[in-house]
Amino acid sequence: MSSQSWHLISKDGLRFYVLNPTQDIEILFTTRRFRDEGLDHNLDLKEQLAPFELGASLVTMNQTHSDRVIRVDRPGEIEADGCFTSEFRLALSLRVADCVPIFIWDKDSGVVGLAHAGWRGTLAKIALRFAEKVEKETGIPSYRLYYSLGPSIGKCCYEVSEDVLNEFRETWPEANRFFSRKKEGFYLDLRAANCFLLSSVGAVEGASLDICTHCNSKRFYSHRREHGKGRNWGIIVRR
Ligand SMILES: [Zn+2]
Repeated sequence: MSSQSWHLISKDGLRFYVLNPTQDIEILFTTRRFRDEGLDHNLDLKEQLAPFELGASLVTMNQTHSDRVIRVDRPGEIEADGCFTSEFRLALSLRVADCVPIFIWDKDSGVVGLAHAGWRGTLAKIALRFAEKVEKETGIPSYRLYYSLGPSIGKCCYEVSEDVLNEFRETWPEANRFFSRKKEGFYLDLRAANCFLLSSVGAVEGASLDICTHCNSKRFYSHRREHGKGRNWGIIVRR
């Protein structure tokens, strides 16, 4: 069944946000487990995915805040910050704790993918690199793509240095519109910047889950708040 909005589901005692933008495509986003409290580790994704029987077909990314996007057709670990596939039952994953998780799909061909965009990846325009690579390797034009953003740090909490502001201004003429100035400093709206990039090439926003990871400590890990204590996982799969 497809659904145009995210739902919180519980499976084997774990809670996930789920979006089914088409009958075949499923997007999952993990929540934190209270038994993880006090532990300095990342969530074990294979354990998290056990109820979904996706552990054996997992693609994980060794993320480095790059703009590197790879097409994949088999499980394993890759060096990239974005990937996509047209294979069935290949679960693509990313891990984030404040950075923006972007899930992307094409309804007709069933190509699915995701990308990790913190401020460096956003500045490098990984969302555009993603659309270009999909078009180059599959022929799907970017205006046929849909995208959805998962939970990330919001403009309410993402204070950045003036150096970050200046780096954006130097490489991106529209940069000012993504920053706001409060008396404490500059705040960056990473979500708006990535939506701007994707809409500029005609991609259409599906349902995004607009929840701030920094404000919602009970549900999500936040790197800003907890400095590497854990990660939220995002998964997209074509069933
Ligand atoms: Zn916030």
